[in-house]
Amino acid sequence: MRSTARGGRTLVLTFDDGPGPATADVLDVLAQYGVKATFCQIGPQATANPAMVKRILAAGHRLCDHTVHHLQPFAALTHDQQAQEIGPAKDMIARAGGPGTPVPWFRAPGGGFTPANEQVAATFGMRSLTWTVDSLDWTKPGAAAIVAKVQSELRPGGVVLMHDGGGDRTETVAALRQLLPWLTAQGYGFDFPAE
Ligand SMILES: [Zn+2]
Repeated sequence: MRSTARGGRTLVLTFDDGPGPATADVLDVLAQYGVKATFCQIGPQATANPAMVKRILAAGHRLCDHTVHHLQPFAALTHDQQAQEIGPAKDMIARAGGPGTPVPWFRAPGGGFTPANEQVAATFGMRSLTWTVDSLDWTKPGAAAIVAKVQSELRPGGVVLMHDGGGDRTETVAALRQLLPWLTAQGYGFDFPAE
């Protein structure tokens, strides 16, 4: 599933591996530009920081299940192990967000999707959320390199992978400050994934 909900000249911004220390900074930049994004969260981190999960929701962003332990290669786990990573994480994220919190999507760690784990996610009511542009921000190549990669690879309907967790995200936040006005100037609208 790679398409945006609305189609046209839109994109989906996704932030993985949070909530973490950089999530507040990411939210501040998104708010500055009026941009909505999708956050793929690790279950226990959501449990540990329910206030941040609620802040994400209150700002109009949406949530995605990024498993309990972020094990890789995810596709190599047994079916039961994968189910234990997917279902409980959704519960943790939903509980952190409060009653009625939707978690419509699942993203396998490292993009390790298989037909079997996508089916598991479907039984929990979630669609698989892949990406079309890997910003490689987690490799810390410098903000300019993150910006350039997104600028060169993004096409309308694209899904951009970035990270608000998993380590120091200073470069990610700096890249966002450049990317959001550029994307807006390019005529892009910000969307959620198709459900
Ligand atoms: Zn991840």
